[in-house]
Amino acid sequence: SEFVKEEFSRGTLRTKTVEDILTPLKDCFMLPSSAVLDFSTMSEIMQSGYTRVPIYEEERSNIVEILYVKDLALVDPEDCTPMTTITKFYNHPLHFVFNDTKLDAMLEEFKKGNSHMAIVQKVNNEGEGDPFYEVLGLVTLEDVIEEIIKSEILDE
Ligand code: ADP
Repeated sequence: SEFVKEEFSRGTLRTKTVEDILTPLKDCFMLPSSAVLDFSTMSEIMQSGYTRVPIYEEERSNIVEILYVKDLALVDPEDCTPMTTITKFYNHPLHFVFNDTKLDAMLEEFKKGNSHMAIVQKVNNEGEGDPFYEVLGLVTLEDVIEEIIKSEILDE
């Protein structure tokens, strides 16, 4: 659209990275893959208000699946369904991007794919040991759009 093209020329989308706008891992609402979909877990998910919940194994930095809240429509809390039964059934794709991905590239990715959320990782080679992938947080289409709107307002 004209709006997005204009922003592109202003540079926000070209220069800012996903790292600048992500929701940090510590603030992410996530659940372990060992969770059971009982009344308590399902209430917690509903109360979080999020539509997508990353699922991790062992450690929060190890995100392995993604649960959409709508996947719970047919789940009866009385059945105490294991989380993995649902995530394996729906098997939504999980997208990873590097921390230095520019917002314009991220926007294109979101437009192409059907998932509007990505897990942001970086190569950590700061320590003594071998470099490793470090998860920084998550970014959604909403975060990119918010950035566009913010810069639009600032420019006026
Ligand atoms: P939702 O549809 O769940 O409201 P959006 O894609 O509209 O999610 O994103 C709104 C904001 O919430 C963004 O800043 C995004 O990074 C953040 N967000 C989305 N999912 C989660 C989550 N599970 N935990 C923490 N923050 C999240």
